[in-house]
Amino acid sequence: MTGTFLETPVEYLKGVGPARADILKKELQIFTFGELLSLFPFRYIDRSKLFLIAEVKDDAAYVQVKGRITDVQTAGSMRAKRIVATLADDSGEMELVWFQGIKWIIDKLKPGTEYIVFGKPSWFNGHLTIAHPDLETANDQSTSVGDTFRPLYTSTEKLKSRGLDSRGISRLMKTLIQSDRFHIPENLSAEILGNLKLMNRQEAFINIHFPVSHEILQKAQARLKFEELFYIQMRLLLQKFQRTQKQSGHPFTVVGHFLNDFYHHYLSFELTNAQKKVIKEIRNDLGSGKQMNRLLQGDVGSGKTLVALMTMLIALDNNFQACLMAPTEILANQHYHNISKMVSGLGVRLDLLTGSTKPAKRKEIANGLEDGSLQILIGTHALIEENVQFKNLGFVVIDEQHRFGVAQRARLWEKNALTPHVLVMTATPIPRTLAMTLYGDLDSSIIDEMPPGRKPVITKHVYETKQEQVFDFIRKQITGGTQVYIVFPLIQESETLDLKNLMEGYESIKQIFPGPEYAIGMVHGKMKQKEKDEAMERFLKKETQILVATTVIEVGVDIPNASVMVIENAERFGLSQLHQLRGRVGRGADQSYCILISGFKLTSEAKKRIETMVETNDGFIIAETDLRLRGPGDMEGTQQSGILNLKIADIIRDEKILKYARNLATDIIRDDPNLEKETNSVIMRHLKIMNKYRENWGLIS
Ligand code: ADP
Ligand code: MG
Repeated sequence: MTGTFLETPVEYLKGVGPARADILKKELQIFTFGELLSLFPFRYIDRSKLFLIAEVKDDAAYVQVKGRITDVQTAGSMRAKRIVATLADDSGEMELVWFQGIKWIIDKLKPGTEYIVFGKPSWFNGHLTIAHPDLETANDQSTSVGDTFRPLYTSTEKLKSRGLDSRGISRLMKTLIQSDRFHIPENLSAEILGNLKLMNRQEAFINIHFPVSHEILQKAQARLKFEELFYIQMRLLLQKFQRTQKQSGHPFTVVGHFLNDFYHHYLSFELTNAQKKVIKEIRNDLGSGKQMNRLLQGDVGSGKTLVALMTMLIALDNNFQACLMAPTEILANQHYHNISKMVSGLGVRLDLLTGSTKPAKRKEIANGLEDGSLQILIGTHALIEENVQFKNLGFVVIDEQHRFGVAQRARLWEKNALTPHVLVMTATPIPRTLAMTLYGDLDSSIIDEMPPGRKPVITKHVYETKQEQVFDFIRKQITGGTQVYIVFPLIQESETLDLKNLMEGYESIKQIFPGPEYAIGMVHGKMKQKEKDEAMERFLKKETQILVATTVIEVGVDIPNASVMVIENAERFGLSQLHQLRGRVGRGADQSYCILISGFKLTSEAKKRIETMVETNDGFIIAETDLRLRGPGDMEGTQQSGILNLKIADIIRDEKILKYARNLATDIIRDDPNLEKETNSVIMRHLKIMNKYRENWGLIS
């Protein structure tokens, strides 16, 4: 057995052996002592706290009660079959229910025996009930490993079948911690520990598994959360430092005729101050000789695309090519048409490349890219296919980046010997904490101001029983000359059902708004590109007044004459999706409306989402609320980010710690970028160990 204690293969642990080691690896990706010790409890049972049954309320989070099983019954049949046991203490009675694992439970439950029961109480069939409680005999508990706090660990069916349920895992932890070789090297300097009054690492590991008190548990958690967030920030900021200090980029020093001509002769309006500020930030980057890597956030319609176009023109002025990548064909088309219009007369050669581009056209594009005569290419991810070769790509714009994987982004960057400048645009504002963790290596610009003359969209919530009023309103609007979107939800589990929903919706809308007075179009994801384009085109040309759609129109589609967005089953949409959809209206001079139609039965989260929409148009507030409601796991873009693999920290609840960690990491890198100082040697050593394991860092660009 060589190497350090933490690096020891898990099969060497007493009580593990080859079979258990195998499932630990397969089920939890645990290979070493260190990885096992880093499986932290997800909860603790505070054994010092026992509730009387009479004290238990159905809205309590979790409770622990002690009582005797007085009765066990089987109720229901077939799929509704369940076990109902009665638990009694001196103060009263409650029910315990199992819907699964019934046989096993029947064998286990011994009437008359005293049990400690842990779970979440609720009201069921007129009784206070705990469904699927954690259960153990009161005697058992005296032999359990924890003291006051019993740790609960995530386990899986396979692990449980090998005796590694929460209790089994806890025993392994005990064995590790009691081992003669147990040693956890410190990875923060004495200075940091002292300044922040953090618990040392070894103590933190012992107490995270077997805390002796609330206070000590909190200290252990704080220490480990800090460590986790600190090292994420160190990695991101070091990457950023390397990029900005060592990776050179094309210096765009010239402001030539393309930008000047455009600005002075083709731009029909004044830039907003926010746009001016962002363009200045971008030009600073471009002139610095370093490669730009910038995130541009701004609500829909705030004028990001214009900023991107002006930056492309700077690239052209410096004899470079530029490209813009959009997430959908509709959007790529739209960008292409808008930008073509804006630069027509400037003498710029641009083209469009998507999945449906014909071979002959592809050939023409390929030739133009190779000899440099094609200056701007707009498209979908077709842009990053192997055979698309630029002569001298200097600038890349990625629109709505969270839809692209980070790996795709990286591939774009490899197109040239010298990495092109990159501007990532997103209309889904990213909460600050998330941005710090997700895009910590990018510079960030924000357009926080709308072009003048925009009237904020008015948002209303209407129950589906009041649909008639909505239809009346739509009629009035159409008579007034504006157009209407009606969006139906997309239920991903069943694409056929989606279509059925939409088709039924379309048919009933057609009956309510009959021809020839009204013309109704439809777009959905299952249509051919050509059909989608035609439907959009008819709507744009005002040949149809109502467009029935799925969320295909969510991203970026720009039809200024549309002033009403009706969202059916609004409770089924996520908050950022609702906000994106609302962004489709309010683009012209008319007052615009967003009408959220829902059923009466709303979950508290759905209610909150709808309320938030009605209350605010501010994308950042919406993003924060969304993050709070859903947690980072469900946010778009977080899947590949690694923040889902946080072992203990939570970027919402631990925002303060995150900021602390980021500030400290920033200071350290500013002061000692190569981590050469003696006090930073411990950090350097730990970064090297992390590198060896790579964790998920390859995924963060
Ligand atoms: P985004 O990409 O942020 O959604 P766009 O760049 O597409 O926004 O701009 C939305 C609309 O507003 C476009 O029609 C654009 O021409 C217009 N626009 C952009 N900037 C301004 C401005 N400063 N003043 C007036 N209109 C603007
Ligand atoms: Mg846009």
